[in-house]
Amino acid sequence: MGVPTLGCACKVCTSPDPHDRRLRPSVLLRWYDGAQQRDVVIDTGPDFRAQALNSGIARVDAVFYTHSHADHILGLDDLRPLSFIVNRESGPVPLYCSPETVAVLERIFDYTFSPHATYPTRARVRIEPLEERTPLHGVEFLRVPVMHGQLPIAGFRFGRAAYLTDVSAIPESSFPLLEGLDHLVLSALRHNPHPSHATVEQAVTWAQRIGARQTWLTHIAHELSHEQTSRTLPAGIAMAWDGLTLPVTLT
Ligand SMILES: [Zn+2]
Ligand SMILES: [Zn+2]
Repeated sequence: MGVPTLGCACKVCTSPDPHDRRLRPSVLLRWYDGAQQRDVVIDTGPDFRAQALNSGIARVDAVFYTHSHADHILGLDDLRPLSFIVNRESGPVPLYCSPETVAVLERIFDYTFSPHATYPTRARVRIEPLEERTPLHGVEFLRVPVMHGQLPIAGFRFGRAAYLTDVSAIPESSFPLLEGLDHLVLSALRHNPHPSHATVEQAVTWAQRIGARQTWLTHIAHELSHEQTSRTLPAGIAMAWDGLTLPVTLT
């Protein structure tokens, strides 16, 4: 829902700590492919435009989607100006998504994806199937299957880092894909159980099993104060915040 949560006056929603202001979750990966800067985004939620402005994005080379829920897709239309730039260089921007996500994107953004789309300034994007491995401008994206309630969704590993959001269960077969990580970004909604999101306690248990050098908790609701929760976390596990930037080894 984002923090502050609309209509709420709780301690976190009214906190003066900038770490307690949270837009909907998304990640930007930026690297150099020769002299060319590459910017790849995971999920374009309703706050994508604000996040793109905050991080100085001037292009987007691809988007990977974890799943089709509103907080992860509704900013797709704001790809438009960035897609015009990339389209002039190399054609429509690839959007990597599962069949479940494709079905929702095509329904909600039919004016973009319909074969009969005529809207002249629609996003210049193309849907690509999300395979187990996607090589992209020198970086390989590995799909890491996880569960979000009853919905199988995608996490991603890239080099020595991984991003797993909206997780309620990690299948046994996904743990070997997460060995040898420097950074793991893992969702933890709150302390009270939720049918489709991990609690802080569940996330800490998985983080300790996966054993990344550093785990960052994301997709945090207004029940969790950054400062207070941070003090309770074991070494090597920390609360992420909007704008957190990490150097990661991508190959
Ligand atoms: Zn609140
Ligand atoms: Zn979500």
